[in-house]
Amino acid sequence: MEEQSAGQRAADAVGAALRKKEKEDAHLESVLKAFGKTLVEQVRWKADLAPHDDLSISEPDPELFAKGIPVSSRKQLIRIGELWPAAANLITPSLQEGFPLLAADLARMSTAVLDGSFSPDLFLSAAYGGRTDEARTIAGHIGFEPELLTFVLTQLAAPVVAKRSEMLFPLVRELPWNRGYCPICGSFPELSLLKGKEGQRWLRCGFCAAIWRFYRGSCPFCDSRDSGDVEFFFVEGRDHERVEVCHRCGRYITGMDLRSFGDDLVEEVLHISLMHLDVIAQKAGFLPMKGMGWESPGKEGSSKSL
Ligand SMILES: [Zn+2]
Ligand SMILES: [Zn+2]
Repeated sequence: MEEQSAGQRAADAVGAALRKKEKEDAHLESVLKAFGKTLVEQVRWKADLAPHDDLSISEPDPELFAKGIPVSSRKQLIRIGELWPAAANLITPSLQEGFPLLAADLARMSTAVLDGSFSPDLFLSAAYGGRTDEARTIAGHIGFEPELLTFVLTQLAAPVVAKRSEMLFPLVRELPWNRGYCPICGSFPELSLLKGKEGQRWLRCGFCAAIWRFYRGSCPFCDSRDSGDVEFFFVEGRDHERVEVCHRCGRYITGMDLRSFGDDLVEEVLHISLMHLDVIAQKAGFLPMKGMGWESPGKEGSSKSL
């Protein structure tokens, strides 16, 4: 029998987890339909990507890291240079399938990446550098709003971003990190997980998929350790899935208690399988912390907008 590639094995595992979810949770149908195929193609490409070292990142300075400066940044991780044509070829078709109303726009974007008339790196450099007028002009050339283009390019580059993050992680594995944002890219987490016998709390980065430990009962966004600030919501009968809201900063994060589960859970699928909790939290007036960076306005006194 022919041996399967690493990409095929990873894609099969995510595909199987998605089908299982679909059977278990009818309410997830539309979310899985929109994001499922893209998730499969992203893990496939990530597993097949050869490690590459064009990040030009110097060894982290333990003193700066101890002061809360991440090893890299979103701006640095997402500019994937000569890998954009591959990203356009491999990921765009599944996005078109998941978001049929955007199919024609996505086709135009992909063609412009392939023929070189649109440079995602130039756009992202402007968008993440806070040069909003420039970002709007570049996006306008291919008929996109900058916010939507940032979302699409983030989906396209995600496998490379996660691979780079995975390669950087060993540099800081032994160094202490007690912040609510990602030690690799500085983004706030999209998922809070309780694992192990003692229920250690782990956060998963919404941008680069890095995982780090954090205090239980503290808000990752504003660092509040006051037990009166943090409240949990869950759906009756599904108390292992929860959303944690903070009354001090108004942000929330979804999460799962994995203590009663085996090792067969596929982490990539957890976040989209909790999207019904995003709806509950947002209806109650809370904002997601994912998507924010530690340098965003109001965080650590910086003025950068992304
Ligand atoms: Zn990260
Ligand atoms: Zn908070």
